[in-house]
Amino acid sequence: MGKLKLKPGVVTGNQLLELFEYCKETKCALPAVNVIGSSSVNAAIRSAREANAPIIIQFSNGGSVFNAGKYLDNTAEKAAIAGGIAGAHHARMIAEAHGVPIILHTDHCAKKLLPWVDGLIEAGEAWYKQTGAPLYSSHMLDLSEESLEENIEISKRYLQRLAKIDMVLEIELGVTGGEEDGVDNTEVDNAKLYTQPEDVLAAYDALTPVGNITVAASFGNTHGVYKPGNVKLRPDILKHSQAKVHADRKTATAKPLNLVFHGGSGSAPEEITEAVSYGVIKFNIDTDTQWAFTDPIKQYMDKHDAYLHSQIGNPDGDDKPNKKYIDPRAWMVLGEKGVIERLKRAFTELNATNQFDF
Ligand SMILES: [Zn+2]
Repeated sequence: MGKLKLKPGVVTGNQLLELFEYCKETKCALPAVNVIGSSSVNAAIRSAREANAPIIIQFSNGGSVFNAGKYLDNTAEKAAIAGGIAGAHHARMIAEAHGVPIILHTDHCAKKLLPWVDGLIEAGEAWYKQTGAPLYSSHMLDLSEESLEENIEISKRYLQRLAKIDMVLEIELGVTGGEEDGVDNTEVDNAKLYTQPEDVLAAYDALTPVGNITVAASFGNTHGVYKPGNVKLRPDILKHSQAKVHADRKTATAKPLNLVFHGGSGSAPEEITEAVSYGVIKFNIDTDTQWAFTDPIKQYMDKHDAYLHSQIGNPDGDDKPNKKYIDPRAWMVLGEKGVIERLKRAFTELNATNQFDF
């Protein structure tokens, strides 16, 4: 099979669906990196350029607020909406400048955060009217804290609206363990960490007639990086979910579901390969890229410590200026480089490097 040809800019609609199918056939997946501002967006796009593969750029609710400015009033999710819209426009512009295709997505949106996604959909509808394409490629609703019935019902309502502007909806079934962005699932009942294939089938039946979905199914995956503990990763749950939908609904393809791997940080290469072989097309990575950004900056601060105590005066002389060491660009670029290298490793482990043509 030839490499999939993609246009630079934001991948949406049918092209996105074609991309998911290609990933499943090729047994590759794309990293979905959580970004918090222009610096992390730029690093993500650069990594995609160097890996010759598209990247999924996602804003969480907290990341959107941060992008708008941490001190902006967030009443009725106004800051999160503004930050999410601004981030999408920045990412689109820089992706086009680099000649890179990206998928724009928003991460976990629990029931109480729905006004955030409402605001983004409104902006997406306006952008669609203006350009014929949505602002974001997809949004995620995480209603895993609600009952399955309510999860599916609310998801259906949102998907009806998203389908009209060629957007995809990511849903969560079962709970991702660990803690991220203020959502703490570290104490959750172990059984919930493993999605039941019956639940996946129920969601498939209710939602696929309405629009296109991706499914974050839980197979013991956790947010954050921890010492190996009592939760065991069971990627075979993904395999069984695909098999159940394929067998019960007699789908043309053996892997009818587009699956999402949350909590990818800290995963072993063989676990990643196995999950991808079962139809994972999106691999969320956050903690590892946070570390990749912070670690080189810590080293810079340590190395140049004597030049960072005041604006004037260092070991070279009491009257020597420290301007070039103080300039945040001097060390933020090191964080960006760290993220680029970490994401390039992710592309390789996901078998995505050089699989695309753009
Ligand atoms: Zn997640």
